[in-house]
Amino acid sequence: MALRFFNTYSRKIEEFEPRDPAARAISIYTCGPTVYSRAHIGNFRAYIFEDLLQRHLELRGYKVHRVMNITDVDDKTIRGAREAKVPLTKFTEQFKEAFFQDAETLRIKRANEFPAATDQPYIDRMIEMIGELIARGLAYQADDKSVYFRINKFPDYGKLAHFDLTQLQSTGRVKHDEYDKEHIGDFALWKAWDEEDGDVKWDSPWGPGRPGWHIECSAMATALLGDQIDIHCGGVDNIFPHHEAEIAQSEGVTGKKFVRYWLHCAHLLVDGQKMSKSLGNFYTVPDVLAKGYTGRELRYALLRVHYRVPLNFTWEGMKEARESLARTDEWLGRLREATEKENVQRPTSNAQRPTQKFEEALDDDLNISAALGFLFESIRETNRAMDEDKFDAASAKAWLDWWERINTVLDLEPDTEIVAPVEVAQLAKERENARREKNWKRSDELRDQISALGWEVRDTKEGQKLAAHGPL
Ligand code: AMP
Ligand code: ZN
Repeated sequence: MALRFFNTYSRKIEEFEPRDPAARAISIYTCGPTVYSRAHIGNFRAYIFEDLLQRHLELRGYKVHRVMNITDVDDKTIRGAREAKVPLTKFTEQFKEAFFQDAETLRIKRANEFPAATDQPYIDRMIEMIGELIARGLAYQADDKSVYFRINKFPDYGKLAHFDLTQLQSTGRVKHDEYDKEHIGDFALWKAWDEEDGDVKWDSPWGPGRPGWHIECSAMATALLGDQIDIHCGGVDNIFPHHEAEIAQSEGVTGKKFVRYWLHCAHLLVDGQKMSKSLGNFYTVPDVLAKGYTGRELRYALLRVHYRVPLNFTWEGMKEARESLARTDEWLGRLREATEKENVQRPTSNAQRPTQKFEEALDDDLNISAALGFLFESIRETNRAMDEDKFDAASAKAWLDWWERINTVLDLEPDTEIVAPVEVAQLAKERENARREKNWKRSDELRDQISALGWEVRDTKEGQKLAAHGPL
């Protein structure tokens, strides 16, 4: 059956038809982190959902070109740099690095490109787009010198969020610094420089200032992926105003439909509330690792629930993730053993051969819960067949091949231990003998030799353990 996604724009499940079906090449734009602090695991729920999307499309033979931006200039990053008394780039660099490190821990596939909003070609593109919007009457410079998008001139504004703009007008809540705007819903494309911004500013035809957050994404998306994109993603909090604004700006400039499919994931919750920086109810990836869990376990915990269903984060959930992975690990071990066995009997019917059910569940709007349900049902059936000795080596091989395939999507194999080179292993053996003979001097010499080769030897209750510590 064909791939189907829930499109936020239509609020319907739609069959997936990319711009260019013959080429099977598709473009995806994902709103990336705002690097003013370390991303929390709520943010990573969004990135893991996008990772699942990309991997499943690839499993189905699509060639994905994915862009994830880095928001490295906005109110929060400027405030953070000012408070830390460091230049903006120095301030954001540490959080960018932490983001890539955490993404790797969670085995999130890297996007093809990670454009940063402050890269000069994108700033130039933002200025160019704003100029176009002014020329078309879709934007104006207000008395405060900032440039705003005129939402009343864009009839489709509100269609993504299914938002009635008259309600916006009736709230009557107008912040002091927004008096200059024609309409309360008009949003800033270019923010005129003020003292709070320090040395964060760029020249523009409207005076010194900096871009608004929304235009950053429109500029980076269209610069790298063209006027039209197949899929655009983010968390549900991105729908309004961010993605609504992206549509208005991009279509306002190009006159073409910006995005074919809008996909948004539900939030990661803590005690029923959105995990967020502002509520202070968040955990980072290192917080979870510090509790003794692995990146693989956290990946599973964030992945296992359908992306449109809110997911409550609990330590009990982490324990369940660990138990589930212990089951898959044990199952894979048994299957590998079974491939070595001489043929026993024909497998029982349900355990005979894998089917396409896992992939088909993912075709259905990435229904990972159903896909994993099928995986665990298969584990139960095949384990039973193995217990009863009704499982042959060919079946074990078929299930392992199946796992290889679905694991390109799941990426849930245990971390492989790095095996020490023969030379290091030999020295470690000699050291073991030296220690048995209580020759401590020789043991220390050997430890130094091992260390010089980039390995560390630790003495534990179970004996010596080797770990690579990299070049000295
Ligand atoms: P930000 O760095 O705030 O721009 O957020 C980066 C991404 O994380 C966006 O796609 C947000 O929608 C998403 N996000 C933020 N908080 C959560 C949460 N609690 N659960 C899921 N996604 C989130
Ligand atoms: Zn964005």
